[in-house]
Amino acid sequence: MRRTVFIADLHLSDDTPDLNRLFAQALRGWENDTDALYILGDLFEAWLGDDMPDKAAQDAAAALKAFSAHTPVYFICGNRDFLLGKKYAAAAGMTLLPETEELVLYGKTCLISHGDEMCTDDTSYQHFRRVMRNQAVQKILLSLPQKWRRKIAADMRAASKKRKREIGMGSISDVTQKGVCQALSRHPQAEILIHGHTHRPAVHRHTCGSRTVTRYVLPDWHDGRGGFLSVLEKGCEILPLVLHEAV
Ligand code: MN
Repeated sequence: MRRTVFIADLHLSDDTPDLNRLFAQALRGWENDTDALYILGDLFEAWLGDDMPDKAAQDAAAALKAFSAHTPVYFICGNRDFLLGKKYAAAAGMTLLPETEELVLYGKTCLISHGDEMCTDDTSYQHFRRVMRNQAVQKILLSLPQKWRRKIAADMRAASKKRKREIGMGSISDVTQKGVCQALSRHPQAEILIHGHTHRPAVHRHTCGSRTVTRYVLPDWHDGRGGFLSVLEKGCEILPLVLHEAV
């Protein structure tokens, strides 16, 4: 049975050796029966520019490139790796997609995105997001010396940690009904919404006007464990991933 695989929020870095191995293992597991792999953002914990990938990103590129020889790989950037660009995508055999994309899978219309744009209650984050997604701002950031970019990334991570402590898993960090309906309003055909970002894997039903849509939230990867959404003709399921010992 053929399927399409969706993942997000792996947050890979040189500090996540178990997750890096789990990702390589997962790609091997998807080799033979997968029509396409969609990575919906935050594949990496941080991205300082395609000119300075860490070891984890280099290894991921090699594994993805090999995988992409038989299965197409698509990438939507997240709030951590929004600076990931064409050069790395080419090295990893990935096709870059815009922030939101509509696709038809096995007869069903799906809307996919990272998901942070739907967290409309977090107004300070939405402001930050608008600035950071500005092309001119990104161009300036990427033209800074590598040392400065390392410093900015460290500062941003510290600020994000502080923010997480403040808001925790409170509802402000989740997507809102308003955000979901706004996203769907631009895609009148969509029956399924798939995103990550919130680290709250679940299946929700939403009614926006006269439509009812199913929303799948992808699992984040942490503590050596991961997961993915498998979309098949007969339906969708969120499945766990664990590392096989001693391979
Ligand atoms: Mn995210």
